[in-house]
Amino acid sequence: MAGKKVLIVYAHQEPKSFNGSLLKITVEELTKQGCSVTVSDLYAMQFEPRATRNDIVGPLHNSEAFKYGVETWEAYKRGSLSKDVVEEQKKVQEADLLIFQFPLFWFNMPAILKGWMDRVLVQGFAYNLPKTYDSGLLQGKLSLFSFTTGGTKEKYATRGDIRYLLWPMQHGIMHFCGVKVLEPHICYAPACVSEEKRKEMLTAWTQRLKTLWKEEPIDCSPEWYFK
Ligand code: FAD
Ligand code: ZN
Repeated sequence: MAGKKVLIVYAHQEPKSFNGSLLKITVEELTKQGCSVTVSDLYAMQFEPRATRNDIVGPLHNSEAFKYGVETWEAYKRGSLSKDVVEEQKKVQEADLLIFQFPLFWFNMPAILKGWMDRVLVQGFAYNLPKTYDSGLLQGKLSLFSFTTGGTKEKYATRGDIRYLLWPMQHGIMHFCGVKVLEPHICYAPACVSEEKRKEMLTAWTQRLKTLWKEEPIDCSPEWYFK
């Protein structure tokens, strides 16, 4: 939808990958719609995934015993978080929609993306106890997890619902911060299917993007995941 701001947080090393193709489609289609699209290409940026003392510029709140959560919260309040974190927070703040694009690694997001979550979504910025879930600080925003797998849809179907994997990402992170969640978009086993099927998957994503702004968020409650 024209005027909407979208941040795509992208975690794949190779532009020619299937994830790279999905990213390209997303940027093209949303730009065509008149959205303003920003991409955080984490590997290309050499994004630092480690949550360390280096995330605080200058003296610590308590230098006796380092507590990452407390220190980043305090640093956020006094404006002394490291520049790369502040830049990502600005992009999140401006965005109406956050799209996470990645290959599934060990039933989860790649470490570089998890590191983005750890470092960017700090207390004071994304939530502020007890302001969490429906009262999280990033209320009014939408998110969408778009990922690829190595395993086929059939394998996932026989080994338990893939929605279980989404509980920590969608509910534990996004919902916790007040962000509403759209249906995830999963491209199963792009490396194992035919070229034709791959093209079909890319077309399906393009089609979904065309009506994305009409979608209702999921009911992000335990029932959605574990029913
Ligand atoms: P690619 O291999 O890059 O792409 C697949 C094919 O699509 C390639 O042939 C490529 O050339 C082709 N392609 C790209 N663009 C286009 C286009 N425009 N048109 C047509 N074809 C195109 N999988 C699981 O299911 N569960 C796990 O827990 C899991 N853990 C993993 C852990 C690690 C550390 C690693 C490295 C992998 C893991 N995987 C797992 C597998 C991983 O999820 C898949 O390899 C990945 O999702 C595939 O996506 P890709 O973008 O890398 O595909
Ligand atoms: Zn939830």
